Amino acid sequence: MAPDDPVVGRENVVQGFVEESLEDSLARAGLPASLSLQLKDALSSALDRRPLESGDRFQVRYLQTVAADGREIGAGRIVSAEVTTSGKGRIALYGFRPTRGVEQLWLGNGESLAAPAMRLPLDTVSVTSGFGVRADPFEQPRNGLGAPSRLGTVGATINTATARGIALGLAPAPGRTAPRGGGAFLMHNGVDLLAPTGTPVLAASDGTVVGAAPNAGYGNWIRVDHGHNVATVYGHLSAFAPGIAAGVKVQRGQVIGLVGNTGRSTGPHLHFEVINNGQAVDPIKFSPTRKAKLEGADLDSFRKLVRQVDAARQDEAPLRLISVGDGR
Ligand SMILES: [Zn+2]
Repeated sequence: MAPDDPVVGRENVVQGFVEESLEDSLARAGLPASLSLQLKDALSSALDRRPLESGDRFQVRYLQTVAADGREIGAGRIVSAEVTTSGKGRIALYGFRPTRGVEQLWLGNGESLAAPAMRLPLDTVSVTSGFGVRADPFEQPRNGLGAPSRLGTVGATINTATARGIALGLAPAPGRTAPRGGGAFLMHNGVDLLAPTGTPVLAASDGTVVGAAPNAGYGNWIRVDHGHNVATVYGHLSAFAPGIAAGVKVQRGQVIGLVGNTGRSTGPHLHFEVINNGQAVDPIKFSPTRKAKLEGADLDSFRKLVRQVDAARQDEAPLRLISVGDGR
């Protein structure tokens, strides 16, 4: 910045306690509305859509560009935000722009908090069987792509932990083996997500239910069309959520059914498929279900930033306290 440049960056801090709602509390503390909205979306993702509770504490540091006459230019950008919740402890978020990407908020481990367009259909995910070719899995629907399946020879190696599942840190279920003849390998058109019977199954994205009915090997089956030639399929359900039927519109995260063990299934789990342009794709690799994570040089720069921000937060030295909310 040139010495005579009339424009300066000013760091602001707002802090306080959540009262009736986070938005109202942030507004009262003086955070600009556009930053409040960005923070609310990121926190909703970090808190699995649970709202903050009254008494939870927040502190937000943001950078505001200011002209020589004191006029604020642009919306400003969040440097860091920290909330201390009764339910989930301390959560810290950091603003960062990767080399190829847009400015957004990240968790301290480099995981993005921008909400993906598509989410996995369970809140807690444990993959027992991944996408791809594997030994003929007798508990699986055979045809994939949401089609009714044919019954085949019983007997297979099932619930084998996959390399991908392990790489993702998802706990595999213990492998189980059943005697079988032949050596067929089939494409597994989805992922098996382990969960107890009755666990809510959530729509992966906004869409329209195109089928919700018993469907051969899939057992109780739901297919949702999300537009843009993307559909999702949910199998082995114990029940459909009230009102879920062909033609009904659903929203991302809405409960559409309950995990079960119907159809060709050897234990309670959700069989989940993502179909893109008529082809089954790996739901875990399919980018809309995957949260962005910083890597390589971006991750190195980001870690430096986190250390600086955390050190500054402890000292409070580099910050000029412009505006303080209704902290008590
Ligand atoms: Zn499956």
